Amino acid sequence: MGDQKDRKLTRRDFVKVTALGVGATTLFAGLDPRLAMAKLPKKWDQEADVVIVGAGGAGLAAAVQVSSQKKSVILLEKMPTYGGSSLICGGALAFAGTDMQASENVKDSNELFYKDLMKVGENQNVPSLVKAYVDNQLETYEWLKKAGVKFLKLGIYSGMSVPRSHQVVPADLLKILNDAAKAHGVKFMMETAASRLVVDEKTGKVRGVQAARGGKTVFYGAKKGVILTSGGFSLNKDLLAKFVPPMAFSKAMVGRGCNGDGLKMAWATGADIKDMPYIKATFGFDLEAQTIKDDFALLFYQGAIIVNKDGKRFVNESISYKLVGDAALVQKDAMGFQIYDAAIRKAGESDPFGRTASLEGKGRIQSAATLKELAQKIGVSADALEATVREYNAGVDKGIDAFGRKTLVAAYGKPGKIEQAPYYAFPSTAYILGTYGGILINEKAQVVDIFGQTIPGLYAAGEITGGVHGAAYMTGTAFGKALIFGRLAAKTVLAQK
Ligand SMILES: Cc1cc2nc3c(=O)[nH]c(=O)nc-3n(C[C@H](O)[C@H](O)[C@H](O)COP(=O)(O)OP(=O)(O)OC[C@H]3O[C@@H](n4cnc5c(N)ncnc54)[C@H](O)[C@@H]3O)c2cc1C
Repeated sequence: MGDQKDRKLTRRDFVKVTALGVGATTLFAGLDPRLAMAKLPKKWDQEADVVIVGAGGAGLAAAVQVSSQKKSVILLEKMPTYGGSSLICGGALAFAGTDMQASENVKDSNELFYKDLMKVGENQNVPSLVKAYVDNQLETYEWLKKAGVKFLKLGIYSGMSVPRSHQVVPADLLKILNDAAKAHGVKFMMETAASRLVVDEKTGKVRGVQAARGGKTVFYGAKKGVILTSGGFSLNKDLLAKFVPPMAFSKAMVGRGCNGDGLKMAWATGADIKDMPYIKATFGFDLEAQTIKDDFALLFYQGAIIVNKDGKRFVNESISYKLVGDAALVQKDAMGFQIYDAAIRKAGESDPFGRTASLEGKGRIQSAATLKELAQKIGVSADALEATVREYNAGVDKGIDAFGRKTLVAAYGKPGKIEQAPYYAFPSTAYILGTYGGILINEKAQVVDIFGQTIPGLYAAGEITGGVHGAAYMTGTAFGKALIFGRLAAKTVLAQK
């Protein structure tokens, strides 16, 4: 790679070449909505040091970080309210080396966190991005704590070898960031949908954003840079079909603005993309789920097995719930029953994602004194279910499992036998909660183009980005990624001359 000057030239050349390829006037003709990039307007409608697109976790964290350094921010949000997927998420945040872990004698470190992240991502993640997450995570935890965020409980879920999930109430955390941003003078432009990046055709630098507001086209100028934090594209069936066709048929539970607008805007400027084939749905939801709080339970990480409609297991239940999701979506009716006993139900009670009271209250979980009776209730062959549990229990005794299960979750815990009545069955499926792949950034949250050069003036953070997760996902690292990289992007923009 060349020096900064070379990079700029390459970027400019790319813009010229692209422009020539499709005709310079069509590519940079400003107001025409059919065009990929907008040219510099005669006058900005508003201008600030930094323009941020999307007021979810990443956008709010970036806005607070920039504005607290006395730099001006315009924050565009397509919806009438802030929050995006961050607001409705499960509130698990992955941090290591915290005081909370220390108080529970959990030994964790950046090294172990890095190792776990690479392992769960099957080494398909970008090492420098994983390192950036790990290097900046503890400081972000402390920053949030100092701002007043309450961390409620430690938990251990997908991909963790020690309890590392720090539970928050997402609405509380986001309100703290929103209030701080407002107090620092961030200009919130609600119901304002960014549609194109404005690129200076002479330099190739991203200079602002074209957006739709109140039926009008408006231009927001950014003196230092534009940060894209517009989240994922789970609601855009066309994009899902393009990258991960099976997911276009999966149910989704995400913020209403998750259409991939920012991804397309960055793509149009030549941004590279990463991890798209690994977009997966999360297993553990009720078949008609409305919220993660009330309609989701991970009993399989407490020791439940998962069986299909034939009463047979089909997966090692301790692996990432996204890989479990892959396995479940190809079973009959794209579902599986979490089968467990009284001991596992009790163990789940102390875990935010193991509690079943709400699902039981709604009649979504069946229970019975015997496995035979349970099988009849859920319409599965009693002989098959009894044989499956018998074989599983025998495997627990011998330490040999037909699907290679050795732990409760990832490298943690020992599975026990399913033998204490009453028995339970929770019919579950997988929902897309986010598109964990996206625009490629570097470790400073600068957007990288398809030739490996950074795109001047363009930064991205949160779910819109790819590279941190790789092939699968550790719980708490998506919301974590939004907050950590939102701040990182802000710091990088502020460091620009
Ligand atoms: C039900 C659920 C549970 C989850 N649980 C967890 C969990 O426990 N732990 C975890 O780590 N992750 C979890 N995730 C994933 C995680 O919440 C998200 O990946 C992360 O919060 C995304 O943050 P973000 O700021 O990048 O995007 P978002 O929070 O989605 O914010 C993006 C914002 O951009 C706005 N926007 C979009 N397009 C435009 C546009 N053109 N112009 C202006 N604004 C625009 C959107 O309206 C939205 O407000 C969960 C997700 C869901 C849906």
